[in-house]
Amino acid sequence: MQATLAGIRILVLGGDQREIEMVKCLARQGGEIYTVGHRPYPGHDNILQVESLGPFPEAIPKVDVIIAPMSHTDSTGKVRAVPEEGVTIRLDDVFLQRFPPGTPLFIGKALPIVKEAAKRRGIRLFETAEDDEIAILNSIPTAEGAIQIAMEELPITLHGSRSLVLGLGRCGLTLVRVLQGLGAEVIAAARNRAQLARAAEMGAEAVPLEELGEAALAVDVVFNTIPALVLTRELLEKMPKEVLIIDIASSPGGVDFEAAADLGLKGILAPGLPGKAAPVTAGRILGKCLPRMILSALSKH
Ligand code: NAP
Repeated sequence: MQATLAGIRILVLGGDQREIEMVKCLARQGGEIYTVGHRPYPGHDNILQVESLGPFPEAIPKVDVIIAPMSHTDSTGKVRAVPEEGVTIRLDDVFLQRFPPGTPLFIGKALPIVKEAAKRRGIRLFETAEDDEIAILNSIPTAEGAIQIAMEELPITLHGSRSLVLGLGRCGLTLVRVLQGLGAEVIAAARNRAQLARAAEMGAEAVPLEELGEAALAVDVVFNTIPALVLTRELLEKMPKEVLIIDIASSPGGVDFEAAADLGLKGILAPGLPGKAAPVTAGRILGKCLPRMILSALSKH
């Protein structure tokens, strides 16, 4: 593997199995990696553990880049996932002030509290989940994870099922393709006419979102990818009682879950699928895509 990251010092703050795999990939590309809250990586001389975050800047090595997890933080700025129990990492002013202004910080998604602290400290934020290359590659484990749930929950095969995909962006189109590969009859709904044309070209039944009616809603399973309320009580009332609704859109999703429960419909909100369904693949995606983003961020500073 090319040593594209030779000489670049990277601080990795917590994470899950994805970040553990990513750390190994970045190290193989020559990065000098410092991890916080990870266990040791035997056999990797260029992966070092930071023992303590201590109150002083000296507690943390001088680094060029910071990487926080794809699973990002809670609303207080606390990193959600850390492999080593008992380690707390909070992306607040106290922590960020230890890094020189201009330091790039990569994170799956930056919540307002992190955005504000980074702005005050001059830290440059890059939201990795929104990068197209990462998002398109991640749509593969996401679709597989959603389909895995469907297979576990449905009493019928996806082959021969009527499957409705709502939203035809990066995840929606991948879902359409994989469902078709399994032999499902796919109905695809979106507001964007170009996306609908692509779904029609792929052989799906394309339905404009505003025209979703009883015929299109007569399905066995729904995969929602739209991060806005789309499956309203009014639409849910038109669906068969046996339908399974899997909502992968970011919280709070696009389904009126309360109405679904009232109507006796089974709805599942399914966040973080790449990390659950295929964490090693998801980590390798980060290991493949982040070097380009890191080099670009460092060249622009
Ligand atoms: P994307 O490429 O932006 O596609 C989103 C789709 O939803 C597009 O068709 C978009 O249409 C449509 N849409 C967005 N807002 C809408 C609205 N208000 N009304 C109608 N349609 C709307 O996003 P993606 O990468 O496919 O991701 C989809 C969602 O899944 C996101 O919330 C993402 O965070 C989440 N996600 C979850 C997982 C998981 O593990 N559960 C994994 C990856 C992604 P337009 O193009 O017209 O806006």
